[in-house]
Amino acid sequence: MIYEPIPIAAIATAPGRGGIGVVRISGKDLAPVVTALFGTTQFKPRHASYLPFTQADGTVIDQGIAIYFKAPHSYTGEDVLELQGHGGPVVMQMLLSRCLEAGKDAGLRLAEPGEFTQRAFLNDKLDLAQAEAVSDLIEASTEAAAKSASQSLSGAFSKVIHALVEKVVHLRMLVEATLDFPEEEIDFLEKSNARGQLATIQTALQKVFEQAAQGALLRAGLNVVLAGQPNVGKSSLLNVLAGDDVAIVTPIAGTTRDKVTETIHIEGIPLNIIDTAGIRHDHDEPEEGQVANAIDTVERIGIERTWAEVDKADVILHLLDASRGPTRADEAIVARFPDGVPVIRIWNKIDLSGHHASVDEMSDATHIYLSAHEHVGIDLLRKELLRIAGWEQTGESLYLARERHLIALKHAHEHLQNAAEYAAQNDQSLDLFAEELRLTQDRLNSITGEFTSDDLLGVIFSRFCIGK
Ligand code: GDP
Ligand code: ZN
Repeated sequence: MIYEPIPIAAIATAPGRGGIGVVRISGKDLAPVVTALFGTTQFKPRHASYLPFTQADGTVIDQGIAIYFKAPHSYTGEDVLELQGHGGPVVMQMLLSRCLEAGKDAGLRLAEPGEFTQRAFLNDKLDLAQAEAVSDLIEASTEAAAKSASQSLSGAFSKVIHALVEKVVHLRMLVEATLDFPEEEIDFLEKSNARGQLATIQTALQKVFEQAAQGALLRAGLNVVLAGQPNVGKSSLLNVLAGDDVAIVTPIAGTTRDKVTETIHIEGIPLNIIDTAGIRHDHDEPEEGQVANAIDTVERIGIERTWAEVDKADVILHLLDASRGPTRADEAIVARFPDGVPVIRIWNKIDLSGHHASVDEMSDATHIYLSAHEHVGIDLLRKELLRIAGWEQTGESLYLARERHLIALKHAHEHLQNAAEYAAQNDQSLDLFAEELRLTQDRLNSITGEFTSDDLLGVIFSRFCIGK
């Protein structure tokens, strides 16, 4: 990634009104900008100065606090100036405009999303996994997610990755040294206990993977689809599940218009519940010769959208009315379920059938009997959802990993597996063994960003908010 030392500025606080708002500026050398703004560069680094923020003609915009961080002792590793004023959108915008104007000759421009953090990464203040954790901490929707994001941000995840890399490097050095002396290759694997070392690395990697996979679950959650006929109790079940949700309920962006997704939490795991209210119209058989009108078309688009969501399901809850049994329309719904996704049949309204005392005995992993009205059988459903999610409360610290990290760990695991196979062969293919170790190391390094393509960096940082 090309590092252009042009200074950048942005409002770092959230849009809207708040007690305080912050404009942040970062650049290799901010002296010209600071001078243009305040007529002096005499700021004691990391000390708060209370002073007026003024326009070029001296008119006061706001009174506030300026804090100056001298490179490299700052978030970005560059000179950083933070101006804390009153947190109103207009005053913040005026302050930002004033900064951009004052810094014009120095090339000061508006920061791109995530650009401050990107500079922190490029200046070795953070590695890539930590930089990602910054965004994940901001986006965290539960305490558990925030806790593990903060764990990753502190470098705990990076540390275990580095420890793995070190072990791989150690083994690689042994192998490579042997490759230079072919006569010693024969019994290298015996003498150096290479197989034992490899097994140790594999075990350690497996453990990291499990902790990361659990953390990834806290970040992305599970997509749960509620499907079923009208009036079987989908909305009631959602309300019951959400009713005990003590965490913050966050609507998923982009779905507010048709409002099909709602995120709730069970034991800190986000469940993105997709309500398929639109489905019913899909299997109202049209009358012979009936022509689709405009309303049908609108509905059809809504239904298609709903099914597109269903196709991303991790688990489907097919709701049925226990007092009525399945109908032909249910067959039509089931026929559209995507292959390979676990389906739980939820027999709701068990209270109407007089069986609600024995729901636990009647239920199993694929059929759960419950009553949304009387809150019977709900705990069982919760447990089953957590089981499908793969959630275990181990009490161990988790790393708020991303899909990208999990894939890298999986590939690293595969290369170790290959290495183990070469090591098991009689005609000891040491060069191939060495090559697999090298690939393992590359995969692990990609997590912390030692060797990362510009494209990937672009994708990662563009998803940050502006000002971070
Ligand atoms: P949806 O159309 O599938 O979302 O169904 P609703 O949640 O709107 O419920 C439809 C009707 O069934 C409402 O009148 C609910 O009060 C009722 N209902 C939902 N769950 C239960 C239940 O467990 N027992 C009984 N007896 N009625 C229920
Ligand atoms: Zn409903």
